[in-house]
Amino acid sequence: MSNYRFNDLKDKVCVITGGAGVLGKAMCEALAVNGVKLAILDINLESATAVANEISSQYNTVAVGIEANVLEKVSLEAAAAQIKAELGAIDILINGAGGNSPAATSKLEMLDENNLDQLEDSFYGLSMDGFDKVFALNFKGTLLPSMVFTKDMLDKKDGVVINISSMNAYRPLTKIPAYSAAKASINNFTEWLSVHLARTGIRVNAIAPGFFLTNQNRFLLTDEKTGELTDRGHKIIANTPMGKFGKPEDLQGTLLFLLSEASAFITGITIPVDGGFNAYSGV
Ligand code: NAD
Repeated sequence: MSNYRFNDLKDKVCVITGGAGVLGKAMCEALAVNGVKLAILDINLESATAVANEISSQYNTVAVGIEANVLEKVSLEAAAAQIKAELGAIDILINGAGGNSPAATSKLEMLDENNLDQLEDSFYGLSMDGFDKVFALNFKGTLLPSMVFTKDMLDKKDGVVINISSMNAYRPLTKIPAYSAAKASINNFTEWLSVHLARTGIRVNAIAPGFFLTNQNRFLLTDEKTGELTDRGHKIIANTPMGKFGKPEDLQGTLLFLLSEASAFITGITIPVDGGFNAYSGV
């Protein structure tokens, strides 16, 4: 439950992709408290419907779960038509769908003289299929919904887009080159689109979450059997000056600020919400 109130958001219509995910759901809750009408898009209809039902029964607003694939324009256009009919013209787009996959993750962090015989476990053995899927989900999966869901905003001469970046955009983490490259492209695209749309009344900004334990990174940060932190999980905590993972609710204040009139002259920026990770050199 979010405690932050921004009265100017009441009755706005928001589309959130990946809205059934862990961070997406926390963002939906903050919006619902503020009276925003929600179209919760996800590739997983069951989860999207479950989140929408929970939100509409708990808060005094409308929420609908809609199946859509952020990589298929036709599927997004069908969702846009449904949203217009059920909720009205779109004011806000949150590009929340994204994530990494084991198929785009190298086993080795670095190559050195002791493991040069294990090239298959390094950069050289990465599956191009896995790489393409992760890059597309995070980059094209932001680009396409931005094309489809900002059209209403052009008509209204008003609207806000929020993209979701990552710490990988600033300093890539080992093992996950596709995810890192794609998230770096999100910061760049946020700047590019903000300039392209600056005179239309549409603002485009991004949030770069630090480390939050969710489905997309659990396999890297915790041991599947014991649930204990992996070495990588410990390293992340050691490099986060606040000494902990973020809670999904930690994104809510920044999100609401970037959506509201309080940030009316802000466009083209990415705000880290990271417990100090990005500021810390490790020394
Ligand atoms: P999550 O896996 O809980 O949520 C992602 C959601 O996206 C899921 O509900 C999934 O079904 C949906 N999705 C996947 N592919 C899709 C597609 N093709 N079309 C539509 N929906 C699709 O992950 P999360 O941690 O809540 O991540 C949300 C966003 O935050 C992602 O962009 C992620 O990269 C980013 N992020 C997460 C962290 C973290 O620490 N968890 C850190 C930085 C950035």
